[in-house]
Amino acid sequence: MQTTEKTQHIRSLKDSIQYIKGVGPKRALLLHKLGLQMVEDCLYFIPHRYEDRSHVKKIGALVEGEQVTFQGKVADVNILHRRRRRKILEVTVQDDTGTICIKWFKFNEKYMKERYTVGRPLVVSGKPTFNRYRGEGLEIIHPDVDLGSEDGSDPLDIGSIIPIYHTTEGLYQKSLRAIMKTLVAGYAHLLDEFLPGDIRRRNHLPERGTAFSETHFPPLGTQENLLKQFRTEAQVRLVFEELFLLQLGLAFKRKHTQEEEPGTPFKTRGDTIHRFIRLMQFELTGAQIKVLGNIMDDLEQSRPMNRLLHGDVGSGKTIVALITLLTAVDNGMQGALMAPTELLAEQHYLNIQPYCQALGIRMQLMTSAMSSKEKKTVLENIREGTTHIAVGTHALIQKGVEFKNLGLAVIDEQHRFGVLQREAISKKGTYPHVLVMTATPIPRSLAMTLYGDMDVSVIDEMPPGRQPIQTKRYYASQRDKAYNFLKKEIGKGRQAYVVCPLIEESDTQDLKTVLEVYDDLQKRFSDVAVALIHGKLKKEERQRIMADFKAGKADILVATTVIEVGIDVANATVMLIEHAERFGLAQLHQLRGRVGRGKYHSYCLLIAYPPLTEDGKLRVKAMMDSCDGFKIAEQDLQIRGPGDFMGTRQSGMPSLVFADLIRDIKIIETTRKEAFNLIDRDPKLEDPEHQNLKQAFQQYLGDRLDFMDIL
Ligand code: ADP
Ligand code: MG
Repeated sequence: MQTTEKTQHIRSLKDSIQYIKGVGPKRALLLHKLGLQMVEDCLYFIPHRYEDRSHVKKIGALVEGEQVTFQGKVADVNILHRRRRRKILEVTVQDDTGTICIKWFKFNEKYMKERYTVGRPLVVSGKPTFNRYRGEGLEIIHPDVDLGSEDGSDPLDIGSIIPIYHTTEGLYQKSLRAIMKTLVAGYAHLLDEFLPGDIRRRNHLPERGTAFSETHFPPLGTQENLLKQFRTEAQVRLVFEELFLLQLGLAFKRKHTQEEEPGTPFKTRGDTIHRFIRLMQFELTGAQIKVLGNIMDDLEQSRPMNRLLHGDVGSGKTIVALITLLTAVDNGMQGALMAPTELLAEQHYLNIQPYCQALGIRMQLMTSAMSSKEKKTVLENIREGTTHIAVGTHALIQKGVEFKNLGLAVIDEQHRFGVLQREAISKKGTYPHVLVMTATPIPRSLAMTLYGDMDVSVIDEMPPGRQPIQTKRYYASQRDKAYNFLKKEIGKGRQAYVVCPLIEESDTQDLKTVLEVYDDLQKRFSDVAVALIHGKLKKEERQRIMADFKAGKADILVATTVIEVGIDVANATVMLIEHAERFGLAQLHQLRGRVGRGKYHSYCLLIAYPPLTEDGKLRVKAMMDSCDGFKIAEQDLQIRGPGDFMGTRQSGMPSLVFADLIRDIKIIETTRKEAFNLIDRDPKLEDPEHQNLKQAFQQYLGDRLDFMDIL
């Protein structure tokens, strides 16, 4: 009865895995544990590596230190009892050329005894080593083993390249492989092709079904190094289709928001801008001029600007933001500048305010720390339009903030905000122009996915006269040396920052750390003025301390990471970071960017407290190796992985199954071109040839993006 049911069933990718031969209720549960419910899930569950069993070695030919696979039979099984009750399992494997011993130090005795019976065929993979203590020749510790059955009913897949999957306790690699084999053979052909033929031909992509089946079971002769790098045609096809759908989404979003959102075209390079340029104490760099050119072109359009501005710390983004804001004011509209922290908003305000005053432009700072009375007046001014430029934190996007006519929003230090905030500030006006600035340079691959619907400009040049910052590492035991160095700089009339880490578990603990360092410094340097700043202080207090430091009234500023972004004191030449190993790489780079802003040679002193974690070591090393924010960002992405990078998970980064943002940068570029071209030619996917694609795209989007109704 059951067999007829199975044969009558019309196969579908949505079939439950229970339909698959070899999957009983017990295994189904194990597969569920791996997140596999339907056949389709299994097809997407690709091997994490492969083992080439097409060239198995003879035991007699095994060499020390070389990863190999060989087959043989169990010749002997021994359990050695050692001191302190530690047992060792030794299995001797034999073929017609010799024997080798395979060993386990951790094992379940009863279970292993049942598995390893004399005469049973098996395939072993691992790296032979010499047993130096006993001179018994080669052995393999904790190898990978596939056991066959004596009657030969369990195939050992000798002579093929086999996939290795992540599996779960109770589900053997070999069983999982057998299930996958049945499933791929029976279902892969049901995967509908959706990539247009011309795109497939241009990019040498095999058909969808073939790509999936050959990714699971690579044909004989497939090059091992290609497989390892995920670069066989089959594998590339999977990466390609995933990234193509992602880029199609971005292309689609951009096309349709641009067309449907009427923006206000600005007249650029007006009177206020000319007056401002005359006030400026320096010339704009070539990069600043180029970027401003992009921005002005955008502002003149009748669709809203949606531009991302990248620039390393200290590259001069603030001036660019200000000129952009002034353009809005010149057009009779309001501008908003949003910063991630109170301190940075205050700094922006203090930096920009003198210019605005000279130009007769009314500017207002709005923070959540304001008294309700102050707040009321500010809100009124913003609503009535008496305020031209509002500067603030996320307080600017809260309920109750109404602009008279917001024409432009600049969002600084984007990585602290999510996509949602970007949209929230937009809603405070009717399709205002939006400029997003980020000081953490984002690796290009990530920018093309995370911000792929935006236009991108890069300030790739520093203001003139900047000197590279020299970075030095000291271990805790060398701390005095670092402090002596710092003292020498102060002797020359320079100033220094000393930064202490945030310890996430407790606020009081943080405070204790900075306070201790502050006390210690006062004791060490009795003739030096030491100031202290941290997030627990009142706004006025912080402003006074910063202003004093800027005016040179303090030589050393001890701080928590509140100074991470935006602080600008040209005479400060030393950035000493306590417990550097605890900081993230982007954060270290930001902190380092606080010095090297004037004409003096600057230093970053990293104090590391052993033992360092592997990641901690890599971060410190990356800092020593480079001052280039983009290189640092690439490193950061490598160390942390994309999910974690900048908290991308919450900021709308789609999860990628096949693609890897570091490995697949070229494919990201290609798919981006192909997808944007396709949307230009067929904006709503109406071409009969694109119907499969449209369906795949709709399925891909799910409820991820809200422009489904356009399709
Ligand atoms: P960031 O890109 O990190 O926000 P800022 O805008 O704070 O950088 O600029 C860093 C410093 O460089 C500031 O002191 C600013 O006045 C100065 N600066 C900006 N542009 C120029 C320029 N073209 N020439 C000289 N100094 C500049
Ligand atoms: Mg800045």
